[in-house]
Amino acid sequence: MNFPQAIIDLSALRHNLQRVRERAPYSRVMAVVKADGYGHGLKRVAQVLAEAHAFAVARLGEALVLRQAGYQGTIVLLEGIADKEELQVAAAYNLTLVVHETTQLDLLWQVPVKAPLSVWLKVDTGMHRLGFPPERVAEAVASLRRCPAVAAVVGLMSHLANADQAEDSLTAIQLETFERITVPGLWRSIANSAAVIACPQAHFDWVRPGLMLYGASPFANCTGAAVGLKPVMTLKTRLIAIHHLHPGDSIGYGATWVCPEAMVVGVAAIGYGDGYPRHAAPGTPLLVNGRPVPLVGRVSMDMVTLDLRSQPEAKVGDPVIVWGPGLPVEEIACHAATIPYELLCQVTARVPRIRE
Ligand SMILES: *Cc1c(COP(=O)(O)O)cnc(C)c1O
Repeated sequence: MNFPQAIIDLSALRHNLQRVRERAPYSRVMAVVKADGYGHGLKRVAQVLAEAHAFAVARLGEALVLRQAGYQGTIVLLEGIADKEELQVAAAYNLTLVVHETTQLDLLWQVPVKAPLSVWLKVDTGMHRLGFPPERVAEAVASLRRCPAVAAVVGLMSHLANADQAEDSLTAIQLETFERITVPGLWRSIANSAAVIACPQAHFDWVRPGLMLYGASPFANCTGAAVGLKPVMTLKTRLIAIHHLHPGDSIGYGATWVCPEAMVVGVAAIGYGDGYPRHAAPGTPLLVNGRPVPLVGRVSMDMVTLDLRSQPEAKVGDPVIVWGPGLPVEEIACHAATIPYELLCQVTARVPRIRE
Protein backbone atom coordinates (compact mmCIF):
# COMPACT_ATOMS: atom_id res chain seq x y z
CA MET A 1 0.00 0.00 0.00
CA ASN A 2 1.14 3.51 -0.84
CA PHE A 3 4.76 3.11 -1.81
CA PRO A 4 6.91 5.13 -1.65
CA GLN A 5 6.22 6.32 1.87
CA ALA A 6 8.08 8.49 4.35
CA ILE A 7 8.02 6.99 7.81
CA ILE A 8 8.39 9.67 10.48
CA ASP A 9 9.95 8.45 13.71
CA LEU A 10 8.70 10.79 16.41
CA SER A 11 10.84 9.17 19.10
CA ALA A 12 13.93 10.07 17.03
CA LEU A 13 12.65 13.66 16.88
CA ARG A 14 12.31 13.72 20.67
CA HIS A 15 15.80 12.24 20.98
CA ASN A 16 17.27 14.95 18.74
CA LEU A 17 15.57 17.75 20.69
CA GLN A 18 17.12 16.27 23.80
CA ARG A 19 20.57 16.38 22.13
CA VAL A 20 20.00 20.09 21.43
CA ARG A 21 19.18 20.67 25.09
CA GLU A 22 22.33 18.84 26.18
CA ARG A 23 24.55 20.76 23.81
CA ALA A 24 23.08 24.14 24.71
CA PRO A 25 21.96 23.67 28.33
CA TYR A 26 21.88 27.40 29.12
CA SER A 27 19.91 28.46 26.05
CA ARG A 28 16.27 28.38 25.16
CA VAL A 29 15.31 26.46 22.05
CA MET A 30 13.49 27.96 19.09
CA ALA A 31 12.67 24.84 17.04
CA VAL A 32 12.79 25.68 13.34
CA VAL A 33 9.87 24.00 11.57
CA LYS A 34 9.72 25.95 8.30
CA ALA A 35 9.14 24.24 4.94
CA ASP A 36 6.62 21.80 6.42
CA GLY A 37 8.98 20.79 9.20
CA TYR A 38 11.82 20.23 6.70
CA GLY A 39 9.48 17.96 4.75
CA HIS A 40 8.41 15.84 7.73
CA GLY A 41 4.92 17.33 8.14
CA LEU A 42 4.53 20.50 10.18
CA LYS A 43 1.64 19.51 12.43
CA ARG A 44 3.12 16.12 13.19
CA VAL A 45 6.55 17.40 14.19
CA ALA A 46 5.03 20.32 16.10
CA GLN A 47 3.31 17.91 18.48
CA VAL A 48 6.67 16.60 19.62
CA LEU A 49 8.63 19.83 19.33
CA ALA A 50 6.07 21.79 21.36
CA GLU A 51 8.39 20.87 24.25
CA ALA A 52 10.77 23.50 22.82
CA HIS A 53 10.42 27.08 24.09
CA ALA A 54 9.20 28.47 20.77
CA PHE A 55 8.74 27.65 17.09
CA ALA A 56 10.31 29.49 14.19
CA VAL A 57 8.86 29.52 10.68
CA ALA A 58 9.72 31.52 7.57
CA ARG A 59 6.25 32.44 6.31
CA LEU A 60 2.97 33.60 7.69
CA GLY A 61 1.04 30.61 6.27
CA GLU A 62 3.23 28.22 8.24
CA ALA A 63 2.54 30.10 11.46
CA LEU A 64 -1.20 29.95 10.81
CA VAL A 65 -1.06 26.17 10.40
CA LEU A 66 0.43 25.97 13.90
CA ARG A 67 -2.16 28.33 15.40
CA GLN A 68 -5.00 26.50 13.68
CA ALA A 69 -3.63 23.24 15.10
CA GLY A 70 -4.13 24.81 18.53
CA TYR A 71 -0.55 25.77 19.40
CA GLN A 72 -0.68 28.82 21.67
CA GLY A 73 3.01 29.33 22.41
CA THR A 74 5.50 31.66 20.80
CA ILE A 75 5.85 31.51 17.01
CA VAL A 76 8.62 33.60 15.49
CA LEU A 77 8.26 34.69 11.86
CA LEU A 78 11.88 34.59 10.67
CA GLU A 79 11.25 36.77 7.61
CA GLY A 80 8.77 38.98 9.40
CA ILE A 81 5.93 40.56 7.44
CA ALA A 82 6.00 41.99 3.92
CA ASP A 83 2.85 44.13 3.75
CA LYS A 84 -0.04 45.66 5.65
CA GLU A 85 -2.29 42.59 5.47
CA GLU A 86 0.44 40.29 6.73
CA LEU A 87 1.11 42.60 9.64
CA GLN A 88 -2.54 42.67 10.62
CA VAL A 89 -2.86 38.88 10.42
CA ALA A 90 0.37 38.44 12.41
CA ALA A 91 -1.00 40.74 15.10
CA ALA A 92 -4.37 38.99 15.16
CA TYR A 93 -2.62 35.64 15.72
CA ASN A 94 -0.16 36.95 18.28
CA LEU A 95 2.93 36.09 16.24
CA THR A 96 6.41 37.32 17.07
CA LEU A 97 8.06 39.23 14.23
CA VAL A 98 11.61 39.44 13.09
CA VAL A 99 12.18 42.98 11.81
CA HIS A 100 15.05 43.02 9.31
CA GLU A 101 14.18 45.94 7.00
CA THR A 102 13.35 49.60 7.28
CA THR A 103 10.12 49.01 5.34
CA GLN A 104 8.96 46.65 8.09
CA LEU A 105 9.67 49.32 10.66
CA ASP A 106 7.63 51.79 8.57
CA LEU A 107 4.71 49.34 8.41
CA LEU A 108 4.73 48.96 12.18
CA TRP A 109 4.49 52.73 12.52
CA GLN A 110 1.80 53.16 9.87
CA VAL A 111 -0.58 50.22 10.08
CA PRO A 112 -3.12 50.02 12.90
CA VAL A 113 -3.02 46.56 14.55
CA LYS A 114 -5.41 44.69 16.79
CA ALA A 115 -2.79 44.07 19.45
CA PRO A 116 0.85 45.07 19.73
CA LEU A 117 3.46 42.49 18.74
CA SER A 118 6.73 41.24 20.19
CA VAL A 119 9.67 41.68 17.86
CA TRP A 120 13.24 40.51 17.37
CA LEU A 121 15.54 42.85 15.52
CA LYS A 122 17.65 41.14 12.87
CA VAL A 123 21.24 42.30 12.61
CA ASP A 124 23.49 41.72 9.62
CA THR A 125 26.78 40.67 11.17
CA GLY A 126 28.38 39.70 7.86
CA MET A 127 26.19 37.26 5.92
CA HIS A 128 24.62 40.17 4.00
CA ARG A 129 21.29 38.49 3.50
CA LEU A 130 18.88 39.97 6.06
CA GLY A 131 19.28 42.48 8.85
CA PHE A 132 20.18 45.99 9.88
CA PRO A 133 23.84 46.94 9.83
CA PRO A 134 25.29 47.01 13.37
CA GLU A 135 25.64 50.79 13.39
CA ARG A 136 21.89 51.19 12.87
CA VAL A 137 20.79 48.80 15.63
CA ALA A 138 20.54 51.33 18.48
CA GLU A 139 18.40 53.67 16.40
CA ALA A 140 16.13 50.83 15.15
CA VAL A 141 15.63 49.45 18.68
CA ALA A 142 14.80 52.94 19.95
CA SER A 143 12.24 53.42 17.19
CA LEU A 144 10.67 50.00 17.86
CA ARG A 145 10.50 50.71 21.58
CA ARG A 146 8.57 53.91 20.92
CA CYS A 147 6.23 52.31 18.38
CA PRO A 148 2.69 51.71 19.67
CA ALA A 149 2.34 48.55 17.53
CA VAL A 150 5.28 46.96 19.36
CA ALA A 151 4.62 45.28 22.69
CA ALA A 152 8.30 44.61 23.34
CA VAL A 153 11.62 44.34 21.59
CA VAL A 154 12.72 40.98 22.92
CA GLY A 155 16.07 40.36 21.26
CA LEU A 156 18.73 40.73 18.62
CA MET A 157 18.96 37.98 16.05
CA SER A 158 21.63 37.28 13.49
CA HIS A 159 22.60 34.39 11.24
CA LEU A 160 25.95 32.71 10.52
CA ALA A 161 27.06 32.17 6.92
CA ASN A 162 29.74 29.55 7.61
CA ALA A 163 28.84 27.81 10.85
CA ASP A 164 29.33 24.44 9.12
CA GLN A 165 33.02 25.20 8.42
CA ALA A 166 35.56 24.44 11.15
CA GLU A 167 37.64 27.39 12.45
CA ASP A 168 36.07 29.77 9.98
CA SER A 169 37.29 33.35 9.98
CA LEU A 170 33.94 34.83 8.92
CA THR A 171 32.23 33.06 11.85
CA ALA A 172 34.77 34.63 14.20
CA ILE A 173 34.13 38.07 12.70
CA GLN A 174 30.35 37.63 12.86
CA LEU A 175 30.46 36.57 16.52
CA GLU A 176 32.74 39.45 17.43
CA THR A 177 30.49 41.90 15.59
CA PHE A 178 27.42 40.46 17.31
CA GLU A 179 28.98 40.69 20.76
CA ARG A 180 30.13 44.26 20.22
CA ILE A 181 26.54 45.45 19.85
CA THR A 182 25.44 46.45 23.31
CA VAL A 183 21.80 47.22 23.81
CA PRO A 184 20.79 46.40 27.37
CA GLY A 185 17.89 44.10 28.14
CA LEU A 186 17.79 42.13 24.90
CA TRP A 187 18.20 38.43 24.28
CA ARG A 188 20.66 37.32 21.62
CA SER A 189 20.34 34.50 19.12
CA ILE A 190 22.65 33.49 16.27
CA ALA A 191 23.10 29.68 16.39
CA ASN A 192 21.67 27.35 13.73
CA SER A 193 22.25 23.57 13.96
CA ALA A 194 25.90 23.75 12.92
CA ALA A 195 26.63 26.33 15.61
CA VAL A 196 24.65 24.39 18.23
CA ILE A 197 26.93 21.43 17.55
CA ALA A 198 30.28 23.05 16.81
CA CYS A 199 30.28 26.53 18.26
CA PRO A 200 29.30 26.78 21.97
CA GLN A 201 30.32 30.44 22.12
CA ALA A 202 27.49 31.13 19.64
CA HIS A 203 24.71 29.68 21.80
CA PHE A 204 23.73 32.89 23.66
CA ASP A 205 20.14 33.10 25.00
CA TRP A 206 18.28 31.24 22.28
CA VAL A 207 19.47 28.61 19.81
CA ARG A 208 17.62 28.02 16.54
CA PRO A 209 18.17 24.43 15.40
CA GLY A 210 16.45 23.11 12.31
CA LEU A 211 18.21 20.32 10.43
CA MET A 212 19.66 18.59 13.49
CA LEU A 213 16.18 18.11 14.96
CA TYR A 214 15.41 15.93 11.96
CA GLY A 215 18.55 13.90 12.59
CA ALA A 216 20.78 15.05 9.75
CA SER A 217 24.16 16.69 9.98
CA PRO A 218 24.83 20.14 8.54
CA PHE A 219 28.53 19.25 8.09
CA ALA A 220 29.75 17.92 4.78
CA ASN A 221 32.18 15.49 6.37
CA CYS A 222 30.07 13.76 9.02
CA THR A 223 26.67 12.17 9.47
CA GLY A 224 24.03 12.94 12.05
CA ALA A 225 24.72 9.63 13.77
CA ALA A 226 28.34 10.71 14.32
CA VAL A 227 27.10 13.65 16.39
CA GLY A 228 24.52 11.64 18.34
CA LEU A 229 21.45 12.30 16.19
CA LYS A 230 18.87 9.84 14.88
CA PRO A 231 17.33 10.22 11.42
CA VAL A 232 13.63 11.01 11.72
CA MET A 233 12.59 10.19 8.14
CA THR A 234 12.88 6.81 6.46
CA LEU A 235 12.01 7.05 2.78
CA LYS A 236 10.90 3.62 1.75
CA THR A 237 9.64 1.93 -1.40
CA ARG A 238 9.76 -1.49 -3.09
CA LEU A 239 10.92 -3.29 -6.20
CA ILE A 240 8.28 -3.33 -8.93
CA ALA A 241 10.20 -5.20 -11.67
CA ILE A 242 13.22 -7.48 -12.11
CA HIS A 243 15.06 -7.93 -15.44
CA HIS A 244 17.71 -10.38 -16.55
CA LEU A 245 19.70 -8.37 -19.07
CA HIS A 246 22.47 -9.22 -21.53
CA PRO A 247 25.91 -7.69 -21.94
CA GLY A 248 25.56 -4.47 -23.96
CA ASP A 249 21.89 -3.86 -23.02
CA SER A 250 21.35 -0.21 -22.10
CA ILE A 251 19.10 0.99 -19.31
CA GLY A 252 16.61 3.83 -19.13
CA TYR A 253 16.38 7.32 -20.67
CA GLY A 254 19.31 8.35 -22.77
CA ALA A 255 20.56 4.75 -22.69
CA THR A 256 23.36 6.15 -20.55
CA TRP A 257 24.22 2.99 -18.68
CA VAL A 258 25.20 -0.21 -20.48
CA CYS A 259 25.36 -3.67 -18.88
CA PRO A 260 28.99 -4.82 -18.82
CA GLU A 261 27.88 -8.45 -18.46
CA ALA A 262 24.77 -10.57 -18.06
CA MET A 263 23.13 -9.19 -14.94
CA VAL A 264 19.98 -8.71 -12.90
CA VAL A 265 18.54 -5.19 -12.80
CA GLY A 266 15.74 -4.11 -10.48
CA VAL A 267 13.27 -1.26 -10.83
CA ALA A 268 12.25 0.57 -7.63
CA ALA A 269 9.22 2.85 -7.37
CA ILE A 270 10.87 6.15 -6.49
CA GLY A 271 11.74 9.05 -8.78
CA TYR A 272 12.08 12.79 -9.02
CA GLY A 273 8.27 13.03 -8.90
CA ASP A 274 8.65 11.87 -5.30
CA GLY A 275 11.55 14.18 -4.60
CA TYR A 276 14.37 11.73 -5.27
CA PRO A 277 17.13 13.84 -6.85
CA ARG A 278 17.38 13.43 -10.62
CA HIS A 279 21.06 14.21 -10.35
CA ALA A 280 21.79 11.20 -8.14
CA ALA A 281 24.80 9.73 -9.91
CA PRO A 282 25.17 6.08 -10.93
CA GLY A 283 26.58 4.36 -7.87
CA THR A 284 24.29 6.15 -5.40
CA PRO A 285 23.33 3.46 -2.88
CA LEU A 286 19.83 2.24 -1.97
CA LEU A 287 19.16 -0.61 0.44
CA VAL A 288 17.41 -3.62 -1.05
CA ASN A 289 16.47 -6.08 1.68
CA GLY A 290 18.71 -4.07 3.98
CA ARG A 291 21.82 -4.35 1.78
CA PRO A 292 23.30 -1.58 -0.38
CA VAL A 293 23.02 -1.77 -4.14
CA PRO A 294 24.07 0.93 -6.63
CA LEU A 295 21.76 3.02 -8.78
CA VAL A 296 22.38 2.62 -12.52
CA GLY A 297 21.04 4.72 -15.40
CA ARG A 298 19.06 7.94 -15.10
CA VAL A 299 16.51 8.70 -12.43
CA SER A 300 13.02 8.91 -14.00
CA MET A 301 9.93 10.64 -12.61
CA ASP A 302 8.57 7.55 -10.91
CA MET A 303 11.37 4.99 -10.97
CA VAL A 304 15.03 4.23 -10.54
CA THR A 305 16.98 1.24 -11.84
CA LEU A 306 19.30 -0.74 -9.59
CA ASP A 307 22.26 -3.03 -10.18
CA LEU A 308 21.22 -6.26 -8.44
CA ARG A 309 24.36 -8.27 -9.24
CA SER A 310 24.99 -8.58 -5.51
CA GLN A 311 21.39 -9.79 -4.95
CA PRO A 312 20.27 -11.78 -7.98
CA GLU A 313 17.69 -13.49 -5.76
CA ALA A 314 15.81 -10.21 -5.06
CA LYS A 315 12.17 -10.26 -6.15
CA VAL A 316 9.30 -7.96 -6.98
CA GLY A 317 7.83 -6.54 -3.77
CA ASP A 318 11.10 -6.59 -1.83
CA PRO A 319 11.61 -3.52 0.39
CA VAL A 320 13.88 -0.70 -0.73
CA ILE A 321 15.18 1.98 1.65
CA VAL A 322 15.99 5.21 -0.18
CA TRP A 323 17.38 6.90 2.92
CA GLY A 324 16.95 6.50 6.65
CA PRO A 325 18.74 4.67 9.45
CA GLY A 326 21.67 2.82 7.91
CA LEU A 327 21.65 5.01 4.80
CA PRO A 328 22.07 8.67 5.77
CA VAL A 329 20.31 11.26 3.64
CA GLU A 330 23.61 13.18 3.91
CA GLU A 331 25.28 10.43 1.87
CA ILE A 332 22.59 10.54 -0.81
CA ALA A 333 22.93 14.34 -0.94
CA CYS A 334 26.64 13.93 -1.54
CA HIS A 335 26.03 11.58 -4.49
CA ALA A 336 23.54 14.10 -5.94
CA ALA A 337 25.76 17.18 -5.43
CA THR A 338 23.29 18.75 -3.03
CA ILE A 339 22.65 19.03 0.72
CA PRO A 340 20.38 17.02 3.05
CA TYR A 341 18.24 20.13 3.63
CA GLU A 342 17.15 20.12 0.01
CA LEU A 343 16.44 16.39 -0.16
CA LEU A 344 14.27 16.42 2.98
CA CYS A 345 12.32 19.53 1.92
CA GLN A 346 11.66 18.34 -1.59
CA VAL A 347 9.93 15.04 -0.80
CA THR A 348 6.71 15.69 -2.71
CA ALA A 349 3.10 15.65 -1.58
CA ARG A 350 2.35 12.32 -3.27
CA VAL A 351 4.58 10.55 -0.74
CA PRO A 352 2.43 9.86 2.32
CA ARG A 353 4.06 10.69 5.64
CA ILE A 354 3.38 7.87 8.02
CA ARG A 355 3.93 8.33 11.68
CA GLU A 356 5.78 5.57 13.41
C1 LIG B 1 16.45 27.91 8.69
C2 LIG B 1 17.01 28.79 9.73
C3 LIG B 1 17.59 28.23 10.88
C4 LIG B 1 17.83 26.76 11.06
O1 LIG B 1 18.98 26.36 10.35
P1 LIG B 1 19.53 24.87 10.41
O2 LIG B 1 20.80 24.93 9.67
O3 LIG B 1 18.51 24.02 9.73
O4 LIG B 1 19.69 24.52 11.84
C5 LIG B 1 17.98 29.11 11.88
N1 LIG B 1 17.83 30.45 11.74
C6 LIG B 1 17.31 31.01 10.64
C7 LIG B 1 17.18 32.49 10.54
C8 LIG B 1 16.89 30.20 9.59
O5 LIG B 1 16.37 30.75 8.49
